[in-house]
Amino acid sequence: MDQQGSHGGDELDCKEALHRIYHFLDGEITLERRVQIESHLNGCSPCLKMYGFEAELRKIVACHCKEALPDSLRSRIAAAIEHEHEGDKA
Ligand SMILES: [Zn+2]
Repeated sequence: MDQQGSHGGDELDCKEALHRIYHFLDGEITLERRVQIESHLNGCSPCLKMYGFEAELRKIVACHCKEALPDSLRSRIAAAIEHEHEGDKA
């Protein structure tokens, strides 16, 4: 079962890229994987948007020190992003 298609072995699909972005932002990945993510982000604006959003979110959380965003707010923001993605399909 090859769902990745036949092109190349190193290409990340968006689902995997987004998953890795969380680890990327947490500094939990290897240099090799960072390079893969960065090259994916360079060619994929939806993922780049999501990366920007997550990076921004972390900045906000860091500014508020230990005060994490409430889950309700976080999921509202995430829902807004998803909605925006649906608009991209046009
Ligand atoms: Zn992508």
